[in-house]
Amino acid sequence: MAWLVDYPREKVNWFPTIDPEKCVKCGICMNCGKNVYDWTENGPVVARPYNCLVGCMTCANLCLGKAISFPDLNELREFYKKEGMWAKVKKQLKEEGKIK
Ligand code: SF4
Ligand code: SF4
Repeated sequence: MAWLVDYPREKVNWFPTIDPEKCVKCGICMNCGKNVYDWTENGPVVARPYNCLVGCMTCANLCLGKAISFPDLNELREFYKKEGMWAKVKKQLKEEGKIK
């Protein structure tokens, strides 16, 4: 995964949480291209949290009920800093010929 290179996805605290009190069952979160959610008779559930793209917040941004939240983005940026992720991703992108 380009955003993490070979870092284990399960060790990164980044996935959505739904507040069922706020969810109005608009369904737009089911549009996630990474198949994170399942639809149940009670609305969406986060069925595959580690499928979520690290850093993505599209479903939260478009959620009609403002029911979806994510961990603090600053913590994610601190993780990137601590693990030297920017340099690792850049190295991989160079190897793939995506940047010079
Ligand atoms: S986008 Fe938000 S309000 Fe709509 S179904 Fe999903 S969690 Fe509920
Ligand atoms: S943040 Fe992006 S990848 Fe993660 S569940 Fe929402 S739409 Fe899917």
